[in-house]
Amino acid sequence: MFMVDPQGVILSWNQGVKELLGYSEDEWIGQHAAIIFTPADMAKDLWESEMKKAEKSGYSTDIRWHSRKDGTEIFGSGFLNAIRDESGTLIGYSKVFSDETARKELQDSLTESNAALEQFAYVASHDLQEPLRTMGAYSQLISRKYKGKLDEDADRFLGFIVGAATRMSALVTGLLSYARSTVRDDRPSSVALDEDVEAAISHLAQAIEECGGVVTHEALPVVQADRGQMVRLFQNLVSNALKYRHPERAPEVHVTAKQKGSEWVISVHDNGIGFDPKYAATIFTPFKRLHSGEQYTGTGVGLAICKRIVETHGGRIWAESRIGEGSTFHFTLPVDNT
Ligand code: ADP
Repeated sequence: MFMVDPQGVILSWNQGVKELLGYSEDEWIGQHAAIIFTPADMAKDLWESEMKKAEKSGYSTDIRWHSRKDGTEIFGSGFLNAIRDESGTLIGYSKVFSDETARKELQDSLTESNAALEQFAYVASHDLQEPLRTMGAYSQLISRKYKGKLDEDADRFLGFIVGAATRMSALVTGLLSYARSTVRDDRPSSVALDEDVEAAISHLAQAIEECGGVVTHEALPVVQADRGQMVRLFQNLVSNALKYRHPERAPEVHVTAKQKGSEWVISVHDNGIGFDPKYAATIFTPFKRLHSGEQYTGTGVGLAICKRIVETHGGRIWAESRIGEGSTFHFTLPVDNT
């Protein structure tokens, strides 16, 4: 922590300055505080604008790369506090600076390995499609051409092969769309969630009509998000609400939004079959299903994709449910302050 005068000239030193930034007391006092900025940031007169901001609103914060005396860089967070005398005149600033380099490096390496993993899943699932298609097509051909000509067992076994190839193809398609779900086509822009729910509903129009369902929503906010991914998120949640409907009543799905502090909580509520709440976390894992493939078609990646979409937008997703009564899927998105 150190003090600067109203022009940004450094007035104080302590051991922390030496340890984090490499300056001795003599080298430090009297310098302009902008020396801790990287050349690119210095060129932008960043220090001046931070002082102006702190002068206006009392403080200013930053988190970015800074320069040490020896030219190496340190990732740090800073808190600049304006100090006034009793008459209210600005007499300088205090700056608290902390080293976040290790955290930043860990975060960067995680981002990198995540990207590599995504790329791997994408390539693997994409390249698996081709041989699978051949296997599926030829086993179907044999099964059609030789049905009844081989013995009964052979017909049954061929049926298993065709079924397995179809199922595996669905799983690989699921894996592919999961791997793709963080590849953003567009940069986030202001999107009205009302319009995204409407788009999802119109994509599901046939399914809604077939089961006699009703999908409604209240007024939803405008957020910073990727439009295509928001539509997909609603589409996955609403189509699950229709698929896991109760056998004795038509599905009713309702979407609501509530602001809680700096985030919106969006909820998709249904009156379907529900599930045991002890599985509320596991259902977001890829390929995890609670209901069997014979009864309900699916690959178990829908909710995993929802989780990725929400998390890449800085939110969380979770579910509440009671067997036989229905489920509610909640997700958060940051409030748009722009
Ligand atoms: P899929 O529907 O292909 O199985 P999901 O990832 O969308 O995959 O869902 C995972 C599991 O969570 C489903 O198999 C089902 O058991 C459960 N589930 C999801 N949505 C609902 C819902 N609205 N009501 C009841 N169970 C649900």
